[in-house]
Amino acid sequence: MILTISTEHSPATDLGFLLHKHPQRRHQVQLAFGQAHVFFPQVDEARCTAALLLDVDPVRLVRGRRGGRTLFHYVNDRPYVASSFMSVAIARVFGTALSGRSRERPQLASQAIPLQARLAALPCSGGEEALRRLFEPLGYAIDCCQHPLDPAFPQWGRSRVLSVGLTNRLRLSELLSHLYVLMPALDGGKHYWIGPDEIDKLLSKGKGWLAEHPHKDFIARRYLLDQRSLAREALQRLTGHDEGLEKSDYDEERIEKPLTLSQRRLAAVQAQLESSGARSVVDLGCGEGKLLRHLTRVRQFVRLAGMDVSATALERASRRLQLDRLGPKHRKRIELLLGSLTYSDTRLQGFDAAAAVEVVEHLDPSRLPAFEHTLFGSMRPRCIVMTTPNRDYNVLFESLSEGGLRHRDHRFEWTREEFRRWGRATAETWDYGVRFEPVGPVDEQYGPPTQMAVFERSEHEDRDA
Ligand code: SAH
Repeated sequence: MILTISTEHSPATDLGFLLHKHPQRRHQVQLAFGQAHVFFPQVDEARCTAALLLDVDPVRLVRGRRGGRTLFHYVNDRPYVASSFMSVAIARVFGTALSGRSRERPQLASQAIPLQARLAALPCSGGEEALRRLFEPLGYAIDCCQHPLDPAFPQWGRSRVLSVGLTNRLRLSELLSHLYVLMPALDGGKHYWIGPDEIDKLLSKGKGWLAEHPHKDFIARRYLLDQRSLAREALQRLTGHDEGLEKSDYDEERIEKPLTLSQRRLAAVQAQLESSGARSVVDLGCGEGKLLRHLTRVRQFVRLAGMDVSATALERASRRLQLDRLGPKHRKRIELLLGSLTYSDTRLQGFDAAAAVEVVEHLDPSRLPAFEHTLFGSMRPRCIVMTTPNRDYNVLFESLSEGGLRHRDHRFEWTREEFRRWGRATAETWDYGVRFEPVGPVDEQYGPPTQMAVFERSEHEDRDA
């Protein structure tokens, strides 16, 4: 894997002073995981380029590793792509430049100059969009090319590896610290154990820019390898207050690139609830209350409830909905209930509609009949809106291993066929009508990422009652 840094700031050869590397020599540094080489493929007054070539040794990576070693530990993309190894190499090989110092050219080190970085292979979970989201707010012009997985088989789609050019006018230390933090954040997988000292590294390299970055929470989360507690602490220290990471069901969110999908899901469910004419809605498995928060803004809904088996989730929901700040009238409109969907519960009676958003797949298959009984048999709301992942679509999530599920707590994920079969049988048993709707971008072959079922009880039951 190779990173080049070029400048056209005259005299361009000063780049050697800034990097503390003599342009006419080849430099080698031995690292724990391989060899780093620095050389200058172009040394002119007008333009100078330094190259950092990293030769990761897969056998070294595995050596000293505790626990099982599988073929994956020997054969993987690490030797070929820029990742946290490149960050470590930058810190080791260009440490002085990274800290903004230069013995020979202190003035130049503190000056914004035209710089261009090129990364031959940068893995980007989230593709070009993620790349732009992270670098563009820092002023970079980006050129990039997303490679096909296999040029001979275009139908396999594109790889998450991009060749990237980043052009900007800034201090060299800024360029290096942006790369140091953002490469692993884009990759989304670090090679060594993340401990609290990683927060210090993130904050020291992010000093002066990360706090203002519009996607700082995403960056912190990804840099800290999705360890929410660490990311939250980092953000607190960065901004001086708790900005609150949005989400606990975080793995799922990462895999699905969810902001958009989860937003679409909530909007789709809300639309169904509104058009059902319901005035009271209970959100079953409400989690942290995201749907409820949307529903509180709709006047049609005069009574709202959220139910979940997790007290922690309900506490978060209570905070999100700011229940403690509501006046008595609004406070009466909404309640949060601790309970389980697999037991009949009189508190759940009398709602016009129920939602169960991304919940059914958290239930043990053996508990499904109990769930059906509670929801369709005992509660019997006029309208039930359910969503669940479409397993057919999982092949399109690059970061999901084959046959893997989107969340570690999912007990199963249904294909479209399986969901429809279950939905139709359940509707028939409990005398409901059912229709199925896609949520999210529909793939021609694999369908939408989320599938939704809308069950409606026939009117005559109300009349007969
Ligand atoms: N509907 C929310 C949360 C989905 S995650 C959203 O879309 O954001 C699934 C939720 O179901 C979790 O909050 C979990 O605590 C809850 N859950 C799992 N089993 C449950 C059960 N038996 N009864 C009630 N809630 C349950």
